[in-house]
Amino acid sequence: MPELPEVEVASRQLRSWLTGRRVTSARAAKSRIIRPQGPQRFARLAGHTLVSIERRGKWMLLDFDDGESLISHLGMTGKWIRRREDEASPLHVRASLHLDDGNAVDYRDPRLFGRLLRGKPAELRAHAGWKSLGPDPLVDGVDVDVECLHRALVVTKRSIKEALMDQRTLAGLGNIHVGESLHRAGLHPQRPGVSLTLKETSRLATAITASIEFALSEEDGSEPITYVEEDPSANVFLVYDHAGKPCPTCASPIERIVQGGRSTFFCPRCQPLKRSRTAKTGRR
Ligand SMILES: [Zn+2]
Repeated sequence: MPELPEVEVASRQLRSWLTGRRVTSARAAKSRIIRPQGPQRFARLAGHTLVSIERRGKWMLLDFDDGESLISHLGMTGKWIRRREDEASPLHVRASLHLDDGNAVDYRDPRLFGRLLRGKPAELRAHAGWKSLGPDPLVDGVDVDVECLHRALVVTKRSIKEALMDQRTLAGLGNIHVGESLHRAGLHPQRPGVSLTLKETSRLATAITASIEFALSEEDGSEPITYVEEDPSANVFLVYDHAGKPCPTCASPIERIVQGGRSTFFCPRCQPLKRSRTAKTGRR
């Protein structure tokens, strides 16, 4: 499933494919991806040129020179891909932009959980998905703001895993990167947010940046992104989907638990539930 790094790569690809190119025709099939809008609204992208793309968390906002924008969320299986216009479009394409350079850019989404909506930029920024987003770990500074993250976590009795999955805490993290970051930080996923010290939060912030940058370094390029769910060989992660396999740090078996209906993978030895003596002392 796309998380921040995949959406960042998608926004870079779209920028390189669309900048300076005029859309000659735009088509969208009637589906829940564009609802409540109709295909005609999407088709009015024809004749226009991309001005800029802003990414926030898992959302992208594409501004066009007609003063209207297009908001895009990849949902669970969405992908933007490019082909030569005369090549057949692949299965599950829900929308296409034909460009004046002979290419077509398709939005492919087998499971139809993505969103594509047109509107004035201000209207789209008021969209519930965009409006409620917390700080973006990549956009809002070089590093995650530790104090801001700490303030967001210590007010909740929810587990840190669930608090970090909430897009209001930080925008863009999903099941993979929350689990990877907690592992890198040596934090047990079931720790309540309220129990985190500032020092632990600082470790977590560093871990989030490292996890995202690692994924970006693995994925960046012009090739379409492969999601782990499509191909297990694309799993480059430390603990994600590694239940029973040895922890890369201590070789203890990785465990899998379910939190909020989603799997969490962690190392019980590197990520103890009880804080160590040093961590307790560090709190004073
Ligand atoms: Zn370990």
